Amino acid sequence: MKVDLFNPTDEHKQLREMVRSFAEREVEPQAAEHDREEKFNAPLFRKLGDLGLLGITAYERFGGSEMDSVAAVIAHEELAAVDPGFTLAYLAHSMLFVNNVNFNGNDAQRAKYLPPACSGQAICGMCMSEPGAGTDVLGMATTARKDGDHYVLDGAKMWITNGAVSKTELGDTFLVYARMHGAGRSELSSFLVEKGTPGFSLGQKIEDKLGMRASMTAELVFEGCRVPAENLVGTEGSAMLHMMRNLEIERLTLAAMSLGIARRSIEIMNDYARDRKSFGEPLNRFGQIQRHIAESYAEYMAGRSYVYQVAGHLDLDEPGHRLDSDGVKLYCATMGKNVADRAIQVLGGYGYVGEYRVERLWRDAKLLEIGGGTLEAHHKNMTRDLARTDKL
Ligand SMILES: Cc1cc2nc3c(=O)[nH]c(=O)nc-3n(C[C@H](O)[C@H](O)[C@H](O)COP(=O)(O)OP(=O)(O)OC[C@H]3O[C@@H](n4cnc5c(N)ncnc54)[C@H](O)[C@@H]3O)c2cc1C
Repeated sequence: MKVDLFNPTDEHKQLREMVRSFAEREVEPQAAEHDREEKFNAPLFRKLGDLGLLGITAYERFGGSEMDSVAAVIAHEELAAVDPGFTLAYLAHSMLFVNNVNFNGNDAQRAKYLPPACSGQAICGMCMSEPGAGTDVLGMATTARKDGDHYVLDGAKMWITNGAVSKTELGDTFLVYARMHGAGRSELSSFLVEKGTPGFSLGQKIEDKLGMRASMTAELVFEGCRVPAENLVGTEGSAMLHMMRNLEIERLTLAAMSLGIARRSIEIMNDYARDRKSFGEPLNRFGQIQRHIAESYAEYMAGRSYVYQVAGHLDLDEPGHRLDSDGVKLYCATMGKNVADRAIQVLGGYGYVGEYRVERLWRDAKLLEIGGGTLEAHHKNMTRDLARTDKL
């Protein structure tokens, strides 16, 4: 039997067909408008819940679909091919919040927070970055201290996807990382914080982003924010391990988004180069154009093979794949951006305007070199991991 690396099972194949048809029918037509107006499409987002995508990796008994890393990659790849901004909101919700709570929370937390998140009733996110600390996670300044049967959080979180759902309205529930007691890895803890908790507010909605404009990004503020003690995830000081475990699927699905961007860019430049004539010949007869198309395809397939190879081995419950979850994002983020850039070049002036979509894909692609770990962070992590290895 022929092995299909990108759809290893019938279930994966059906999932891809279902997401692709939904993406083309319902997501694509609204993408340009929501990008232009910097608006999040909450009603469409909730439909992802009806399709079982919001809790794609969460346990079935808590409302999820209990699928694997390959399935998560397929969903992100297919949605990002039509609307990376919308897909980033999906990723922040389903991977950074739902998957994180599913694997790191306890049953009481799963029972309370996962069903509304999996159905789309609640829109959720994860708060790690701060105004003064991004790559340097251990430099975070938000603090948590125990006060009776509550923890009190003080600080601010920056760049939080789904932090707002409109210009003035907070998202619903967040996983928030904070420092306890002092400095060091073992001092980080994480908490579930709901909209309406005293001391929790929307700081600013971040406007005028280069790309990913269909996802809302916000600063969130915690001022003497009193969180019930049962909202501590795991034990005090265990958050670094949770963060590491969840970053692997985050980076893998961000890389999958770059694959979607690259595929769509190649389809668009291929069609255009076949139809458009210059000097009496289709563009795809010219060697320089052939180079843009052929190199893009080969790089896309290399990235795709790497992503699905890693996804096939990534166990959501076990950390230990950092080298390659950083590796796929390092390679695919720049690959996706370069392929979108070549598509603009092949389309000439038409590539530079919204109608042909590739300028939006190019703007969105840039974020993937920054969010979820910068390229430089991947260089640092990968070199550190490789230094511990003698043979590959
Ligand atoms: C649209 C968007 C959505 C986001 N969504 C979320 C979210 O939902 N939740 C969340 O927690 N965060 C989110 N982020 C934050 C994102 O993860 C951070 O922006 C990213 O980790 C980089 O942090 P920073 O912006 O503070 O940059 P910095 O860490 O200050 O880095 C600035 C530059 O210095 C480089 N640099 C830093 N340290 C080193 C070093 N040791 N060696 C070499 N170079 C270094 C970086 O690579 C980068 O080029 C989002 C960001 C954006 C833009």
